[in-house]
Amino acid sequence: MQKIDRKKLASLIDRELVQFQTKTPTSQRLTEHAKSSMPNGVPMPWMSEWHTPYPLFSKSAKGSRLVDVDDNEYVDFCLGDTGAMFGHSPDATAEAVGDHVRHGITTMLPTEAAISVSRELQRRFGLPYWQIAMTATDANRFVIRMSRIITGRPKVLVFNGCYHGTLSESLVRLRDGKILPISKININPAYEPSVISKVIEFNDVNAFESALAEGDVACVLAEPALTNVGIVLPEEGYHDALRELTRKYQTLLIIDETHTLSTGFGGYTGVYGLQPDFFTVGKAIASGIPVAAYGMTEEMVTRLVEASGGESSAWLGLGGTLSGNQFAVQAMRVTLEQVATQGAFAHMVEQSGRLADGIRSVIEQFEMPWHAVQLGARVEYMFSPEPYRTGGQAQAGTDRQLDAYTHLYFLNRDILITPFHNMLLVSPQTSGKDVDRFNETFKSLVQDLI
Ligand code: PMP
Repeated sequence: MQKIDRKKLASLIDRELVQFQTKTPTSQRLTEHAKSSMPNGVPMPWMSEWHTPYPLFSKSAKGSRLVDVDDNEYVDFCLGDTGAMFGHSPDATAEAVGDHVRHGITTMLPTEAAISVSRELQRRFGLPYWQIAMTATDANRFVIRMSRIITGRPKVLVFNGCYHGTLSESLVRLRDGKILPISKININPAYEPSVISKVIEFNDVNAFESALAEGDVACVLAEPALTNVGIVLPEEGYHDALRELTRKYQTLLIIDETHTLSTGFGGYTGVYGLQPDFFTVGKAIASGIPVAAYGMTEEMVTRLVEASGGESSAWLGLGGTLSGNQFAVQAMRVTLEQVATQGAFAHMVEQSGRLADGIRSVIEQFEMPWHAVQLGARVEYMFSPEPYRTGGQAQAGTDRQLDAYTHLYFLNRDILITPFHNMLLVSPQTSGKDVDRFNETFKSLVQDLI
């Protein structure tokens, strides 16, 4: 296996940084200008988390392409970190919402489109009842709240290395058997994380059973595969064990498909036949317009009504003024009916397979101690010879220097990938040529490195 020469790597990063600054002077100037009115010059903290000295300022984006303010055109495999997984501004969505926006945006009333949307969500993901939220974070917060009311228990169990939005319950990590805030600098709640959360490693059935056996866990909040710490796939039978044990200990199971929707038409749940009590999804479900949805079984609806003594006010504490507004619902309807179709998924998964094969063949040819994982339309290259079993292993294997080198290398050759790790998404408009271009660039970055 190749050994990485760290000195050479550092000098390659310096070379790429110079090249990046040469091609993006307007982004640099705008960042400096923006710093006088926004911390770090960005409207949202994550936007400064790229492996670049300043973020690219975006001018426009369409399909699989993004153009920055210096008129560099990128093949976009970041796709808004999943929000634009079905391509930037799909024509069908753009036309439908453009027209719709002139006929009312928000009214505090349902429209017929909400019926079509909930029926389609039913058909795709299998759960019978649906509600609309603004973001995936929101959807997760609401189903956690319902789980606590239904079970009368306080804690939420999550997996080490997870991300489910800005929820106190899931901004936790496991270190030496202890539950800690996710990082020292994170904006943390003022209380001890162990009061509201439990965190264990993914793929560890024994730890899972021990955590549930204490009888204080309202719900498990799980992605079917971890996707926010690289990709960690579930082992054979793991989801069966999760379902069996949650039933045994009367803990509710929430499956968050915000990212794993990439698996296929019905998400991971549809493709692998999972049976969650609650289901959440956001980001791409309305082509990137802020909408999310949460589904629930009939039993959850009945138990919520029972737990609240039949009072309809039990449903307060869920939703918000703008959730389910008619504009957002229309955007979701068009996305489900015309954009995120079986045909779109077939193309995305096929091209994503070519992407993963290309990466793997370069890794093999040059004997790099790396691997690639595919989850439908999503691929990740990671810097260890073997796939990880747990989020803890994946975190320990993070290599900031290699991340920086590869990200900058791609950017300088007009390819954009997700900033936080090495995740690539394939949209319905990503062509075979785009995939070839990525794979050729991946090969040349390895050749330059060794
Ligand atoms: N769930 C998962 C699995 C996610 O990856 C994310 C965001 N990366 C969220 C929920 C939260 O999404 P949002 O920030 O759009 O609320």
